[in-house]
Parts: sequence; C-alpha cells; structure tokens
Amino acid sequence: PPHPVAPPPPLEGKLRRIAMMTSGGDAPGMNAAIRSVVRMTVEKGCEPYCIYEGYEGLVQGGSFIRKFEWEQVRGWLSEGGTLIGTARCMAFYERPGRLTAAKNMVLNGIDALIICGGDGSLTGADKFRAEWPSLIKELVDTKQLTVEQTEPFKHLNIVGLVGSIDNDMSGTDATIGCFSALGRICELVDYIEATASSHSRAFVIEVMGRHCGWLALMAGVATGADFVFIPEKPRAENWREEMCSIVAQARSMFISLHRKFGKRKTIVIIAEGAADQDGNKISPEMIKDLLADKDGLALDTRITTLGHVQRGGTACAYDRQLATLQGVEAVNAVLDATPETPTPFIAINENKITRKPLVQAVLDTKEVSKAIEAREFDRAMKLRDTEFSDMYNSYMTTTATELNQSMKLPPHKHMRIAIIHVGAPAGGVNAATRAAVAYCLTRGHTPLAIHNGFAGLARHHDDQPVGAVREFDWLEVDGWASKGGSEIGMNRETPGESGMELIASLFAKYKFDGLFMIGGFEAFQSLSQLRQAQEKYSSLCIPMTLLPATISNNVPGTEYSIGSDTCLNELVRYCDTIKQSASASRRRVFVIETQGGRSGYVATLAGLAVGAVAVYTPEEGISIAMLAADIAHLKKAFQQDSGQSRAGRLILINEKASKVYNAKLIADMIREEAHERFESRDSIPGHVQQGGTPSPMDRTRAVRLAIKCIEHLESYEDRSDKTILKDPHTCTVIGIKGASVVFSPMKEVEEKETDWPNRRPKDEFWVGLKHIVDVLSGRPEVPRPE
Ligand code: ATP
Repeated sequence: PPHPVAPPPPLEGKLRRIAMMTSGGDAPGMNAAIRSVVRMTVEKGCEPYCIYEGYEGLVQGGSFIRKFEWEQVRGWLSEGGTLIGTARCMAFYERPGRLTAAKNMVLNGIDALIICGGDGSLTGADKFRAEWPSLIKELVDTKQLTVEQTEPFKHLNIVGLVGSIDNDMSGTDATIGCFSALGRICELVDYIEATASSHSRAFVIEVMGRHCGWLALMAGVATGADFVFIPEKPRAENWREEMCSIVAQARSMFISLHRKFGKRKTIVIIAEGAADQDGNKISPEMIKDLLADKDGLALDTRITTLGHVQRGGTACAYDRQLATLQGVEAVNAVLDATPETPTPFIAINENKITRKPLVQAVLDTKEVSKAIEAREFDRAMKLRDTEFSDMYNSYMTTTATELNQSMKLPPHKHMRIAIIHVGAPAGGVNAATRAAVAYCLTRGHTPLAIHNGFAGLARHHDDQPVGAVREFDWLEVDGWASKGGSEIGMNRETPGESGMELIASLFAKYKFDGLFMIGGFEAFQSLSQLRQAQEKYSSLCIPMTLLPATISNNVPGTEYSIGSDTCLNELVRYCDTIKQSASASRRRVFVIETQGGRSGYVATLAGLAVGAVAVYTPEEGISIAMLAADIAHLKKAFQQDSGQSRAGRLILINEKASKVYNAKLIADMIREEAHERFESRDSIPGHVQQGGTPSPMDRTRAVRLAIKCIEHLESYEDRSDKTILKDPHTCTVIGIKGASVVFSPMKEVEEKETDWPNRRPKDEFWVGLKHIVDVLSGRPEVPRPE
C-alpha cells in the first residue's frame, strides 16, 4: 500500500530529477524504454524516478513515485509489457486530479516527465504542461505549497514516447510495440494458413485497430492475405461482389489447373474498426456468411479473433532498438529544453529518429478519426504517413492482379523483366520477388525468373527441360509472401566469374529489357561488373536495379538490407534463451559469435537489443588491453551482484572482429581470469541467423521496395544504348537513407561510398550506436585498438 515518503533534498545546480512513466495500453518495448531512460539519466548525472501505474500513480503519490537505480532495470529488455505498471486514470481527466499530480511532482522534486503511451496519454501530458503554471499558482494560493517550494518548478518539461501496438500516432512511422504486435499476428496467421490449406478452408481473422488499420494492412501485405478491411479506406460500395470474385478467381484457378500450390486457402483480415463507405460496421460474421453462402462460394469458413495475444509478449528486436534509442533521445530532449521549447515527442521516419512537436501530432491523429467519422476517406489516408498509403497501394497491386485492369500499360510499353537472386538467402527475398512479379503482371510486363543466380544462367541455359530462365507462374509465386530462403535459387557467383561474354550473350538471347537483382554484397559486386561491361555489350544496356538483401546489412547505398531484421530477431531470441540458461546457474557470461562478414552491424544492433556488456566488431578490432579492461569490468560486476541477481551476461563478437581472438578463446580467457568466481562459455548460433520465417518488417519492406524498383525500371521508355550509358540513374541501388527511400546511381556508390577491401559501406550510419550499447550496459571506457 502506498505510504508517504519524505521529500528528497533539493538538487544542486543543473541536476535534474527525470521521471519515467508508462500509460495507456501496455506495449512490448516499454521496458526497454524505461531501462534506457533510467540509465541515460544516471549517465547524464541526473536522478531517475519511475511513476508506477501511469497517471494514477502521479495522482496518488507516495510510494507510487520511486527513485530508481541503474541496477534495478537490469534484464528489462527481454521482459514483455511494462514492469512499472500502467492504468487508466479517471482523476487525471479533471483539473483537481492534475492539481494533486502537480503537487506530488513538486514534493518529489521532479521537474521533467517522460511519458510512454498512446495518443490519449500524450494528450493528457500536453494538457498538464499547458496548465502547469496555473496549477502551481493554485497550489500556492491555496497554501498547499509555499512559494519557496515551487520556485524551482516554474516550468515543467515533458517529452512523449509513443508506445502503442496500433501504430496510430501521426508524425511517426512506427510506435514502440507495433512491430512486435505485427510479428505475433503474422506468426498466428501463418499457423492458421497451414490449417486453412490442409482443409481447403477460409478464415476470417479479426485483428486490433479501432481507428487505425495499420496492423490489418501490414498483416495483409506480409501474409499475402486475399482481402483486408481497414477503417481508413473502406472498400468500394460493391465490396461483397469484389471480395467474392477475388476469392472465386483464386479458387477456380486452383481447381482448373489441379496444381498442388494453388489457392487452397482463403485468408481475409479485418480490423476491429472496419466499416463500409456509409459507416456501417462490417463484422467478421458478415464476411463469413458471404464466403460460406451455399448458393455462392460455399466455402467452409471459420472466424478467428486474435484478441489480447496481439499485445505480443516480449518485444521484437526492432521495438527494443527503437525504444532504447528513443529513450536516449528523450533524455537528451529534456536536457536541451528551454521554457520556450514546445513539448516534443520522439518519432521515427524511415530510419531517422527525430523530435517533433507533440501538439501537432496529437491534433493530426484526432483528425484521422474525425475524417473517418465524416467519411472523408481520402483525407484520412493523407493524414496517415506516406508509408501507410504506399503500403496500401502495394497491397492492392499484389492482390487481385487481374482486377487491376486500369493499371495495365499499352503493349508497346511492356518489358521483359528478369529477376535474379545473388548471394546468400535472407528473409524477404521471396516476398520481394512475389511483389515484383505481381506488379509486372498488373502492368502487362513479362517477369522472368533466372534460376540459381549467374552460375545457373551460365551453366544450365540449354540442357534443362525448362532452362535457367522461365516465365514466372503467378499461382506458384502467390504463396511466397511468408516463405524464407530463395524459391528461385541463389548463388554467390558474379557474372565476371561466370564469364561476362557468355552472360551478355544470354541477356541478348532471352531479350531482357530490364534487370531486377535481389541480394547482398555479391549482388552489388555483380551489378557493378555488369554496369562496367555496358560499354562493351549492347545487350547489357538495359535499366538495372538492386534491392539489397542480406543479413549482414553491408550493402553500400542503403542503411537497411532486407533480411537483416529477421537475422536480428533470430539472434535476440537466441540470446534471450541463452541468457536464461545463464541465469539458472546464476553467474555466467556467454560469448556469442555473430555473422555479418566484415560489418559489425548485426553484432552491434543485437547488442543494443539484448544489453550486451561488450560488442566486438571488425570496424574497431580487438586488442589485449581492451580484453583486459573488459575482463576486469566483468569481475567487478559479478562481485557487486547481489545473491538474488538473476540475469546472465552476454558478449557479442562478430565472426571477423579479429584474426586471433575468437569467441572460444575469449571465453577461455575469461574463465581463466574468473578463478571460478563465475563461469564463461562460447556459443555460435551460425546459420540460425539466416532465419526461418522472415520477419514482418522484412516482408513488408521487401514488398514496398520491390514495387518501387520495378516502377523505376519501367520509367525508362527510351532504352537505347546511348541513353543507358549516359544516364547514371539507369543503373541503381535502392536504399533507405535517413528519412527517405532513394535510388542511388551505382557508379557513384561504387566510387564514393564503398569500402571494397572490407566489403561494406565507407560510412556506416550505425557506428555511433556502439557507444550507446556501451553506455547503457555500463561498460567503462576501454582502450581501443590503434
Ligand atoms: P492506447 O493507445 O493503448 O489506448 P492511450 O494512451 O491512448 O493508449 P488512454 O486510455 O486514452 O490510452 O489514456 C490513458 C490515460 O491518459 C487516461 O486514463 C487518462 O488518465 C490520461 N488521459 C487521456 N486523455 C486525456 C485527456 N484528454 N486529458 C487528461 N488526461 C488524459
């Protein structure tokens, strides 16, 4: 039960007391945000506080408001929900409630509040800050506090972090928790698909989202669902006929062709808030009745309401990173704020974390709901971020290809577009291929599969029954949305190794008008070779583009390669499991070797998501002094642990961080130095890192980027050799750079941005993040190799 605590002594100088609170519905990643805020606050020399049970705790005061220590948030990264609780609080809607809350803040000496919650919570926060001076005045006027007591608290700093599984806040591409929830939904839909397919059934799956269709839409894109219903964009008036005809079409193709891989399943995803254009609710039962109608499709149809499992349990890698980095930014924002600074919230746009005005975002978010209510759906779509409408268009393009007749190009614009996978498998490669094929078919192009990379093209072009090049069969491809690996086969060989002359002659033989390449650094290298051979071979003078796909995320021209998110999720799962085994035996450190080639991206980002005590990368290298310092730090840390301390400790080392010090050697060195005071083991997850089922982020981004790639290729109507040779944009790599998606000319990227000997970009955007991993895990300044 709450009990009154003595007010803490005032802080000297510029020190601050920064309180963290979670509010509204819980979301995976909230604990990562708390850990990050608490530790960053300590790092900055300030005092961290946590307010339990959301605004309720602020109003109640007493032991709901507690000072936190660095150690207290250890192991929180891998916990689901919020460990400081959240509640709905009626009192905070009214001024008297907020008055008491203000009093409690002053009594505890807290002058900054970081709130992680949904739009409701952040609306409340903004109201609180706007009212603050008048609340303080009232507290003095009514003699609840003295002028001296309130003197240091003239201004309240508030910073918002958006924690919500719905991803319903305007101004940010993602909210903390949304990708974990999406991951859970996709996992469950994948399970349901197996049953649907076995029994040839239809499933209507209801997902969360009363005003926001992000979860339903993204799940539709990631799983290749037949039909989705979202609140922002109701289907056409004749949605019943439309849905039935799309389903019937897929089903009848199956029957007539007797294919094993046709559509034996029908999946319809519906957001809770789905309605028709007149605002009438569309329920899962209505859809079921339509699909099951005996005089119509007569499908054996079931309804599954996913409910609270969507809250997701533990957070996925992305939510942990996002929450951690946004937590750091929130503390920085508190310390930067002046009385004039408008209340910010921390957003992410593509790959860039930014501060934005909270008031505007809250207003925009409310506008979406208003627009839906007023049935102004175009406006509702516009008010969501660009990625949302991009995704909607992607979804519409990749389903119902036959129905999109209006998108068909006139015959003279049709192209023969070759699709090739080069490198090692990465999550999302099949999803990208499926989307590219769907888009090609919608436009009237001929998508051609090159099997088994350039090696396959060079060696099997004549002697196979179907050859290395064949037209894609949509019925087959349609089932690839969630498949891992590479369905058309992947190979690391570059065209230079296969023989450029032969490759050029095969390009001529198959009359390719455009090339869409998907793959990692070898693909990048291959495209560079093809580009340089264009002068010599006319058949290579076609538009070409690369979609980077590799777990290592080391392709120049982008900050993100598809497949890297899947890899991080696998690694995080692996580390969580290992950490648990470590904690069962109490005192153990694991040294885990990650893949990543000569790029420390995977090791660093996984380190950020699991809270590694040290991360060793090829960029930085390892020295004996560094190891000695880290081992000394470990010794001290284990010594300071209380007997109850549960979590084991992890060190991540990239496979190429050092020629000499590998995971086993480092684990042995630690064991030798630990003198049996703690244990140490090495562990190599190996190919697990390529991932089984690709993550929803990799799948959905694959779809979106692949479609952009084909759009880019088809934009070159004039494909004369002269144009191709002259225009550097005819040979490009697509990438996410900061807050935008860009096509960069290969020539420029090869010459200016590539560290060829190390097979990675010259500037790696994430290098600075390593410092954050170190700070948040309390790693001391260690000597860096020269
Ligand atoms: P979710 O997205 O999960 O619904 P939310 O933050 O929008 O999260 P709400 O229930 O709307 O959840 O808000 C949480 C709490 O924030 C409320 O219980 C209330 O204490 C406070 N709050 C919300 N809106 C306001 C408001 N307009 N004025 C004051 N306080 C508010």
